[in-house]
Amino acid sequence: MINIIVIGGGASGLMASIQAARNGAQVTILEHNERVGKKILATGNGRCNLTNVYQEASCYRGSSPEYAWEIIKKFPMPETIRFFSELGIYTKNRNGWMYPYSDQASSVLEVLEMEARHLKVKIKTLEEAVDIIKQGNRYQVVTKTWKYDCDRVVISCGSSASNVEGSSDSGYTLAKRLGHSLVEPMPALAALKGKENYFAKWAGTRMDGIVKLEIEGCIFKEERGEILFTDYGISGIAVFQISRYAVRAVGEGCHVNCHLDLMPDFSKEDLINLLKKRLSDCPYKTIQEMMVGLVPKKMIAVLAPAKISLEDVAENMKDWVISVKDAYSMKQAQICSGGVLTEELTMDLESKLHPGIYFSGEVIDVDGPCGGYNLQWAWSSGAVAGISAANGSQI
Ligand SMILES: Cc1cc2nc3c(=O)[nH]c(=O)nc-3n(C[C@H](O)[C@H](O)[C@H](O)COP(=O)(O)OP(=O)(O)OC[C@H]3O[C@@H](n4cnc5c(N)ncnc54)[C@H](O)[C@@H]3O)c2cc1C
Repeated sequence: MINIIVIGGGASGLMASIQAARNGAQVTILEHNERVGKKILATGNGRCNLTNVYQEASCYRGSSPEYAWEIIKKFPMPETIRFFSELGIYTKNRNGWMYPYSDQASSVLEVLEMEARHLKVKIKTLEEAVDIIKQGNRYQVVTKTWKYDCDRVVISCGSSASNVEGSSDSGYTLAKRLGHSLVEPMPALAALKGKENYFAKWAGTRMDGIVKLEIEGCIFKEERGEILFTDYGISGIAVFQISRYAVRAVGEGCHVNCHLDLMPDFSKEDLINLLKKRLSDCPYKTIQEMMVGLVPKKMIAVLAPAKISLEDVAENMKDWVISVKDAYSMKQAQICSGGVLTEELTMDLESKLHPGIYFSGEVIDVDGPCGGYNLQWAWSSGAVAGISAANGSQI
């Protein structure tokens, strides 16, 4: 019987273990936390947005997005829904974003744990893998307390993003020790710090709007959704969606701006007419008083300082520009972009440098936007790595 060690009992490691065990392997998970799946519990604000019905190649990013899509196609969204449905997860569709009907991320983790137990997957918690040693055509995984001999290893250690316990760079370290190249891991799905110094004025407000990302003078991407205004810059789902590009561009030394359209349903001309009408309806008001009821109170001081014309207020509301300094922090980010270079992996997620070593999940240089795509990558890559490790790379 093939003996497999899976390092990391997160989303992709649990999936890899279940699939490997279903394919006849004897599987042991080494998990550094006192329990598996802590990050799963934090997903989707505790509800777990486990996948998305809208899938296409452009939903997956990295230095080789086509590679990611080929892996997704081997265990695609319908297969994921079927897998979870067979384990007992009835799903709920919110505009394509899929959740367990219970709206509890804990249900997703529980069914994965039940299935792993049923398949006799051994789960060793409080075990942090620190090294992998090649022994002929077998491997030895070294933890702080023990040495585990095995035929194959799946590295599913996730990334250093988020403050969920267990998030670390140890997967990257193990990969580097094996000679793998990394695309530098950087925060993604993250809030952005601005260079300006007025942010305390708007901190704590939120508005619906469009964020347009400008890199070296060109608008690269735009996203509509909620924008949160913080004391360091901007956050919220619209900002998260463009953040991986902003952060990587800043890292490459580019000049990066975010343009905020805070009245996306109005043209600038319509907005000027609206502001004029509001003033003529109440001619006793100042421009700042006229803005009450249109935007949150704290935004008025920023968008309409003293002695400003209506045209300039409209310009500020349609195109407020922030110079991006960086991501707010790695610990606040939901995921990392970057990771193990896919060119050094086969189409079965096996290391080209060390046959018998597999990778899955966020440790690989693949990331997705909000909406269930990062978990879909974890499920798909975990399934492909687990099945391949058990069968010797033939799916
Ligand atoms: C707050 C938050 C909300 C999110 N919400 C969503 C969402 O709703 N939908 C979505 O698609 N994505 C979401 N994500 C992203 C998603 O959770 C991750 O992309 C996904 O969990 C990655 O799976 P993984 O298996 O690669 O890593 P993880 O789930 O992080 O698992 C890695 C595991 O490995 C363990 N480990 C690490 N190093 C070692 C070691 N050396 N030895 C032993 N064990 C080790 C860790 O303790 C951890 O348990 C969210 C992320 C966060 C932080």
